[in-house]
This record gives sequence, C-alpha cells and structure tokens, in this order.
Amino acid sequence: AHTLRLLLGDQLNPDHAWFGRVDAGVVYVLLELRQETDYVRHHAQKILAIFAAMRRLAQHLAAQGHRVRYVGIDAPLGTGSAAGPAAQPQPQPGSGTGVQAWCLSDCLTWLCQQHQARAFEYQEPDEWRLDQQLATWCAGSGLATRRVGSGHFYTPRHAAAQFFGARKQWRQEHFYRRLRQEHGVLLDALGQPEGGQWNFDADNRQPWRGQPPVPPDARPVHDHSALWHLISASGVQSMGEPSAAALRWPIDRAEALQQLDHFIEHRLAHFGAFQDALSSQHGTLFHSLLSFALNVKMLRPHEVVQRAEQAWRAGQVPLAAAEGFIRQILGWREYVRGVYWAQMPGYTNCNALAHQRPLPHWFWNGQTRMACMAAALQNSLRNAYAHHIQRLMVIGNFALLAGLDPQALHRWYLGIYIDAFEWVEAPNTLGMSQFADGGLLASKPYVSSAAYLQRMGDHCRTCPYDPALKTGARACPYNALYWDFFERHAQRLGQNARISLVYRNLQRMAPEARAALREQAAHTLERIEAL
Ligand code: FAD
Repeated sequence: AHTLRLLLGDQLNPDHAWFGRVDAGVVYVLLELRQETDYVRHHAQKILAIFAAMRRLAQHLAAQGHRVRYVGIDAPLGTGSAAGPAAQPQPQPGSGTGVQAWCLSDCLTWLCQQHQARAFEYQEPDEWRLDQQLATWCAGSGLATRRVGSGHFYTPRHAAAQFFGARKQWRQEHFYRRLRQEHGVLLDALGQPEGGQWNFDADNRQPWRGQPPVPPDARPVHDHSALWHLISASGVQSMGEPSAAALRWPIDRAEALQQLDHFIEHRLAHFGAFQDALSSQHGTLFHSLLSFALNVKMLRPHEVVQRAEQAWRAGQVPLAAAEGFIRQILGWREYVRGVYWAQMPGYTNCNALAHQRPLPHWFWNGQTRMACMAAALQNSLRNAYAHHIQRLMVIGNFALLAGLDPQALHRWYLGIYIDAFEWVEAPNTLGMSQFADGGLLASKPYVSSAAYLQRMGDHCRTCPYDPALKTGARACPYNALYWDFFERHAQRLGQNARISLVYRNLQRMAPEARAALREQAAHTLERIEAL
C-alpha cells in the first residue's frame, strides 16, 4: 500500500520539503490532463513549457530514487496499469482517447486503485477551481488525505483578508509596507525604509530612447518539437506561435537560477527607470521575464527579493531599481494572491461597469493598424509574453475604454501569457486593469488617452493614427474613447476625488466638442474590427 502525492503543473519546486527523504512507499504523480490544457484556450508555448518542465522534474525525482508515476498527454487508456478500476470513466468525446481525457478526480480514483493507495497527499493549490476539486475528491475518496503547504509564498492565502478586514479599498502599498517590516526587507538599522522612503516610483517613470542598450536575451533555447508533436496529435487546441524548435522558457530550477543571475547582473540596474517604458525596438526592455519560473515555483520569491536587495547593498544597482523590483514581488504578487483568495468564488464573474462588447478578432492575430496595440499583441502571440505596461496601458487600457467584456478578456489573458494562473491573472485583469471589481483593487481606472502612450513610447511615430488628433479618420482611437469612457461612467466615477480633474476638464469643454467626441467614439466602436 502506498501514499500517492500529487504534483500539479505549477508545483515544480524540486526543493519542496517532500523530497528531502526517499521513501519507497510514496509515489509522486504528475498528470498531463486535457482538463488543464482545455479550461481556456492556451498559448502553445504555455502548454509546452509547463509539460516540458513537469517532465524534467519527473526525471529529476526519479534520478534521486523517488518513485514517480507520469501520465503523459499521449498516454493510452490503461497506461502502465496493473489492474484498472472496475468501471473506468469514459473520456469526453473529442478530448482525446486516453487517461488524459479524464478529469483530475477520475484520474486520481483510477491511480489510487492501481497503486492500492492508502493515503493521498497534495500541496495547497493556488487556484480556487483545483482547490475545490481536490477537496471534494478527497472527501469522497475513503482514503487518509492530507493537504500540505507549497512552501512558496511569503504570506498565507488569507493574510490580505486579515490585514484589510472590512476596508472598502484594499491598497497594495499598505500591505507591501507591512511585509517589508515583517520580513526585514530594505530596512535600515532602526527598522526604517532604506533611503528614507518606502516607494521610489517618482524616479521610475522614464521613457526609453535607445540608451542604455538592452542586454541580449540570455534565456535557454530548447527544441521541444517532439513534445509539440504529441500535444498537437492529441487534439489540444492552442493559440500563438509554438516556437517548439526554439522555446525560450526555463524548464528547471538550474535554468531559472541562471536567468535570475543574468537579470540581477545585467538588467536590474535599469529596471526601475524604464519599468513603464514602451518600445517598438524591444518587447522586454529591462524586465526580468521571471514570472513563469516564479509561478511554477522553480524559483522562490524570497530568493529573488534577497538577490535584488543584496545587489543594492553591494552597490551594483540603485536603490530605486531594487525597491521598484522588490515591490512587484513582495508587494504586488503577494497582494493580488490575497485579493484572489479573499474574493473567490465570485471574483471572476465581476463586471461593475457592465461592459459587454466582444473582443475584436485581432486579439487573436495582432492585425490592427494601431501600432502600440499591434506590437503588444504580436509580442503576446509570438512569445506568450508582454511586459506590464503593454498588458496594462496598451491592451487593458484599450479594452476598458472600448467597454470590452471583462470575462472574455479574462479568459484571453488567462490563456495567452506564459505566467497566467488564475490567482494572479484575475485580480490583475479584472481588478487592476478593468475596474470590474468596482475599485476594490485600483483606486481609479487605469486608463489614458494617446498622450501617455506617446510620452512613454515610440509607437506613435510609425502609427497611421495621430496622437494629437481627437476626431477625424486619423485620430488615435484612444483619444475619443478616453473621454467617452468618462462621460459614459460619470455617475459611477464622477464622485471619485482622484479623477475629479478629468471631470472638470470635461465640464470645461464646449458642448459641441463633447458631442464631437461622443460621435467619434461611437464611430470608432462601430468599426472596431477594422481599427
Ligand atoms: P517584471 O516586470 O520583471 O516584474 C518582476 C516580477 O514581479 C514578475 O515576474 C512578477 O512575478 C511580479 N509582478 C510584477 N507585477 C505584478 C503584478 N501586477 N501582479 C503580480 N505579480 C507581479 N502576472 C503574472 O504573473 N501572471 C499573470 O497572469 C498576469 N496577468 C496580468 C494581466 C494584466 C492585465 C496585467 C496588467 C498584469 C498581469 N500580470 C500578471 C502582472 C505583470 O504584468 C507580470 O507579472 C509581468 O509582466 C511578468 O513579466 P516579468 O517577469 O518580466 O516581470
């Protein structure tokens, strides 16, 4: 009789406490399931990189002497079975023919019978749907079951809920400061923030004009053509370019650590200054590209934060760069997870502004004439990646101004990015970017007209639309949509002190000018597919 221990596709930490001792009575289970490839349409690179990293971890564990049971996406029914269950579950039509077509629960029932399991253990899942599914399955399994921590985050799931309590608005900055104090990050001997302030964002808002040069991409290159063939042959539908012969995502901890080293040495110093910049020359600029390695837990947030702090203490990077970077991980990442667990279930259905418009077709092919949007979408489709400002101020900004359906957008973001897992994607998309939670997370909608995009980037220079024009065929669509957004939502947003200036400017406009903007916005939305 065995204990089965489940490892999900985003639980790939080879240093988890589970692996400290080899135990012949424990079987580690990793499953490539259609349930996981199909819950939204995913970018091909995301499916490939997760499966490749799962396979790498399975090899690593087996080489250490652990017993591993791996069910591949191509596993036929009854794979490696000694004795199948009396009544095998039936795969869903059109979702493959093997074990991988079963839902996670059926698969576990089958494996537990095969291995005559007496006990089942799993690490705390980060997504609500898996947490529910596993809890329900455990309750009916008749086995001794145990959920253990993943040992990954700084804070437990409900830390933010406890911290904010009944407050109406949950400000990241407050939570971040508390965590800096609790974990002694960037504090001086008196426990005060290094440099005399908690946040150096004011130093961090520069456009990038080509200097300093962006260091080359040092990520590994893998040929996963054979795995991609298996995935495609199994009928999994995906989006974006697979780039299977030259995939650039790390698939084990050693590779992730190399990537971290490279970031700290070559990019961190300029991270802060150009954090909000947009460039037609570079789709990554000085960003770390570490979100995939972090989210599948090949890296721990603590070690990434410590490395950034050490680099500052060693005089290698400015404080504003280290602080800006650390805030993303110790602040934003922990905070959005707390929001997610406090608000689920239900958060993923929020739509405070009642936006309904379907996503235009060019979200799936990047074919729009808006230069900044085309660059952000093409980066996403080619690389399963876009940096934060592309996600927030180009794609998300347009979506909010145009009133796109936030749930459809949430599914798109959840599918397309290499780092997208619901606990981090949903608060970012629905809360921060779309204001769909009515302002729990963001104190005001993150929207801008063309002026911001022009200031922070160089796309406007080659764009057929003119950022200086508000009306007419050549006017940048962001302009009229911006004013129309605030007009449409005046009732809800007009009382918000943080945007009172916008409403004052609207009121100062001549009625004809306002009418012209409304008309331009309506016309823009009518021809949204052709923008
Ligand atoms: P860097 O810019 O180098 O930042 C360093 C690290 O900080 C990231 O790797 C990430 O772990 C963390 N981080 C930065 N910003 C955030 C944030 N807002 N929330 C949580 N962690 C953050 N991030 C995801 O990991 N998964 C998602 O699915 C995701 N969806 C997003 C959707 C929208 C609409 C927006 C606006 C942001 C989203 N983000 C998401 C946050 C952020 O854009 C990405 O973490 C970042 O772009 C990843 O690239 P990087 O590793 O180069 O990040």
